[in-house]
Amino acid sequence: ENISVQIPEEVMEMMKPFRPSESNYRNVTKRLELDMNMGLDPAHRDKACVKMFPSYVSKVPSGKEKGQFMALDLGGTNYRILLVTLKGNNAPPEIIESTYAIPEIKMSGPGEALFDFIAETINDFLKSKKIPDKTISLGFTFSFPCNQKGLDVGILTRWTKGFSATNVEGKNVVELLGVALKKLNLKVSCKALVNDTVGTLASCSFEHPDCAIGLIVGTGSNACYIEDLSKVLTVDKTALMKNAKFIIINTEWGAFGENGTLEDIRTKYDRAMDKNSLHPGKQIFEKLISGMYLGEIVRLVLVELIEKKLLFKGNLPDAMRKPYSFLTKYMSDCERDPPHLHYSTEYMLRNELLVNTIDSLDCKIIRYCCEIVARRAAYLAGSAIAVLINKMNRPTVTIGVDGSLFRHHPSFAANMNAIIKQFKNPKCEFRLKLSEDGSGKGAAAIVAAHSF
Ligand code: ADP
Repeated sequence: ENISVQIPEEVMEMMKPFRPSESNYRNVTKRLELDMNMGLDPAHRDKACVKMFPSYVSKVPSGKEKGQFMALDLGGTNYRILLVTLKGNNAPPEIIESTYAIPEIKMSGPGEALFDFIAETINDFLKSKKIPDKTISLGFTFSFPCNQKGLDVGILTRWTKGFSATNVEGKNVVELLGVALKKLNLKVSCKALVNDTVGTLASCSFEHPDCAIGLIVGTGSNACYIEDLSKVLTVDKTALMKNAKFIIINTEWGAFGENGTLEDIRTKYDRAMDKNSLHPGKQIFEKLISGMYLGEIVRLVLVELIEKKLLFKGNLPDAMRKPYSFLTKYMSDCERDPPHLHYSTEYMLRNELLVNTIDSLDCKIIRYCCEIVARRAAYLAGSAIAVLINKMNRPTVTIGVDGSLFRHHPSFAANMNAIIKQFKNPKCEFRLKLSEDGSGKGAAAIVAAHSF
C-alpha cells in the first residue's frame, strides 16, 4: 500500500482500529440482515434497531407522469421549496425552486414554530413566484424516521442529525404541516410524505427502470429498497393503492448498532464523538458513515496525534479545538491531492485551520487518517447495500445514490463498488448511479403516480 509510505509506525498503530478485517465486515452484513428481518416481522419489530418502515409507495414512477406539484425538502443542510411540472414522456421536468435557511432556533425550539415557519416560507414562495391561488398537491420530503400508516400519514419516531424541535416526536408530521398551512389559508395539500431515499429511488427510476434501491450518503445515511408485499406484514393493506404488488421499504438503517452489535467496529474516537453529539447513543451506523460525523471523528484523531507530538510538532491550532471544525469536505480535499503533492491539504490547513507551520509529513499523515476513516465509511455503506442486493435477488439492480459525501468524495464510490462486489451474490449485477432531484422530481412523481 503506497499510502502508508513514510507514515510513522505509531500513527499506523493508532489507526488500526479503523481498519476492520474482511470478516468483521462480513459479520456486519449478517447482523444487519438479521436486524432487517426482525424489522419486517411484526412479532419482533420492537427489538429491531432497523425499523424497516413501509413507505406506502407501491408504484415506481415511469416518467409518464404529468402535472404540476409542489415539493418540500426538509431534512439536511438545505431547506427547499419547489414547484415541479412533470411533462410526461420522460422529458425532464420544469422546476422552480427556492432555498431557505432554517434558523437554528426553529430547529431546536417548539415544533409549532418550526411548522409555522415552513408555512410562511411556502406563502412567500407562492407569492414571490406568482403562483396562481388554486389547490395544489404537495410531496413532502422529510428525511427523518417516520412510522408511516399511509402515504400521507407519518409519525416522527425521533429527530436525527441537527434537529431537536419539541413536540414533534410521536406526532403525524403531515398533520402538523396541515395545521400550519391552514392558519395561513393556503390551498396546498400534502398528499405524500416521502423519505429522501424513496425520492431518490423514484427520481432514478425515470432513467433506470431497474432502479430498486435508493441510497443517501449526505448529512446522514439511509437506504430504501423494493420489497414484495407478501414479505411485509407490518403494512396496513387498506391504506395501499389497489393491486399493489410491492412496497418500498425505508430501512432507516442509520439506527443499526444501537443495541451494541457494532461495538467490534467502533473505536474510542467514534464513542467520544457520539457522547458529545446531539443524540448520543442513537444512529450508530449513520455516525460511522455520514458527512455530519466523519470530519469530527478525524478531528478527534488529529487532536490526539498532536497531543502525542506526532503532528504539527505538538502545537494544536486554535481552530481545531472546536468540535466539528474539521469539515468532512476537507477529507475530500485531502484525498483529491495526488499522493506525493499536497496542494489542497496545505491550502486547507493554512487558510481554514490557520496552521502556519506545515511540513509535508503532516500533510501525509492527515491524508492517511482521512483516507482510512472515509474508506471504513464506504465499506460499511457498501456492505449494507450488498445485504439489500442479496435480499432482493434480482438479476440486475440500479442503485440511485444522492448526498454530497458520495458525490464529492474522490474514492467513496470506488470503495463502495469494491466491497459490494465482494459481498453480493455473484448472480446479481448492480451499478451505483448518482441520482439528483429526489426531493423535487422524485417526490412530485410519487404524488402523481399515486393520485387516482
Ligand atoms: P443533505 O444530506 O443534508 O441533504 P448533502 O447531501 O449536501 O445534504 O450533505 C451534506 C453533508 O455532506 C455535510 O455533512 C457535509 O459535511 C458533507 N459534504 C459537503 N461537501 C462535501 C465534500 N466536498 N466532500 C465530502 N463531504 C461533503
